[in-house]
Amino acid sequence: MIRKFIFIPILLICLLSCKNVDIDKAVDLTFTTIQATEKAARPISDEEEYYVGRAVAARLLQYYPLYENSALTRYINLVGTTIALHSEKPFTFGGYHFAVLNSNEVNAFACPGGIILITKGMIQLAQNEDELAAILAHEIAHINHRDGINSIKQARWTEALTIIGTKAARQFGSEDLTKLVNIFEGSVDDIVKTLVVNGYSRSQEYAADETALSYLAKAGYNPYSLINVLERMGKYANVNNKGFFKTHPDPNDRIENIKDKIPSVNLDQTLFNKRLQRFNSFVKS
Ligand SMILES: [Zn+2]
Repeated sequence: MIRKFIFIPILLICLLSCKNVDIDKAVDLTFTTIQATEKAARPISDEEEYYVGRAVAARLLQYYPLYENSALTRYINLVGTTIALHSEKPFTFGGYHFAVLNSNEVNAFACPGGIILITKGMIQLAQNEDELAAILAHEIAHINHRDGINSIKQARWTEALTIIGTKAARQFGSEDLTKLVNIFEGSVDDIVKTLVVNGYSRSQEYAADETALSYLAKAGYNPYSLINVLERMGKYANVNNKGFFKTHPDPNDRIENIKDKIPSVNLDQTLFNKRLQRFNSFVKS
């Protein structure tokens, strides 16, 4: 805001110092520039995030086919939406959707806006529903933290908003539309590359684990199950260092980060056993 107030008089003085520019035009041009600058600085909206995330999911489905098992998919959605309902953002523009990928690779992807893809291999690594919930809670935390959408290169978004901000939709020429499509595709590339190849930063991963602990506790799951599943991931990573382990810090480092941060909860063993029974019937059968 302070910058804006400094910016207005400076721009006006510059414009008025040019002999051929009248005051009305100068004021008009100044405010158009301010409007465009403000729009270029706005964050990506929930609706825009949803459309980018949907395209990211579609791209991932080109590499990993869907596992078409409606009973298992319904169950993963039940556990996932239970966790999401206890997050900071229980509802997103397009809602949360969980799908299973037909791959034995241990991996999971949180697409911006609420689509979460988890491989059969990752589901099978979990030994009970609480561990499955821990894996999904970590992914939901990435969505709530907007880690995926933040991996879009800033220059792309600034360019998109400059085009969007300075023209009404009906004024877009074919050149503008081509540019916008290229920016959209480039944004999807940025996210897919981060999810599949580069991974997030260590601090983003640690933050997702810490947030996952609070979701688990609020939803009535055992937060310690995150440590249990990370221990199993650690053993697995020793023999197969691909997929999830390529894009995430060493599971032992993740355990070290959260081991003193586990929230204390009163666990109901009867409910845990019921959840385990349910897990076995959908996952182990
Ligand atoms: Zn992660």
